[in-house]
Amino acid sequence: MVLALGAPAGWMVLSALLNGYSTPAALADDISANSTLYLYLTVATSVAFTTFGYRLGVQAEQLRRAASIDHLTGLVTRQRLFDFLDQALAEAVRYRRPIAVVMVDIDHFKHINDRFGHLAGDDVLRAIARSLVEGKRRPDITGRFGGEEFLIVLPETTVEEAFEFAERTRARIAAERVPWGGNEINVTVSLGVAGGVPADASWGDRLVEAADAALYEAKRAGRNVVRIGKTD
Ligand code: GH3
Ligand code: MG
Ligand code: MG
Repeated sequence: MVLALGAPAGWMVLSALLNGYSTPAALADDISANSTLYLYLTVATSVAFTTFGYRLGVQAEQLRRAASIDHLTGLVTRQRLFDFLDQALAEAVRYRRPIAVVMVDIDHFKHINDRFGHLAGDDVLRAIARSLVEGKRRPDITGRFGGEEFLIVLPETTVEEAFEFAERTRARIAAERVPWGGNEINVTVSLGVAGGVPADASWGDRLVEAADAALYEAKRAGRNVVRIGKTD
């Protein structure tokens, strides 16, 4: 609003310099004589600044979305995932409720890329991402943690419930076939689960580390299995 008065005020100063009027009455005369011009200047600058501000807002929102959504899978990125985990943890601590995380890693994914090519690998990543989203409950959030790793945050979930969820996820993905150039690609995933009633908000790192350690155990156990990590 203040900015919208910039152009008419500038015009007043210019008129004062050019016409030499010095009294408020002369200024008032000028305004009434040129009321259409003053109105136009006020409206035009209002519209210009509003449009400019709106476009800046749209661009900021686009940048924010691009930073929080992984373009290949459409899942949230690691940063957004950690923001969500922090929020969910704060709630879990406040209400002494359980929370769990599940770390998912595609087995021998390098072989898929080597055998079928990177585009096929990308398709497999999209298919797994879709499957993870379809299998989750509404309050859970699934994100792409890294290259071929995903993390699911499950608020209000005990470690036993998270294990059952992980086991269902493992079995569903093992039964899926991703069509590719006349072939069908079959992949499996290994999963690490961690959960509990968090003592404090610093539990975020502990949960992720425990799920990561459990995932490592699942790989060592031969892959296509679920393991539970220790949080104490
Ligand atoms: P493991 O069972 O031990 O997890 O073996 P792996 O081959 O899955 O694991 P490794 O860490 O050796 O390889 C991961 C591969 O994932 C290597 C990398 O090229 C591939 N990868 C990561 N991001 C992408 C992506 O966006 N698209 C494709 N096509 N491949 C990716
Ligand atoms: Mg990996
Ligand atoms: Mg892998």
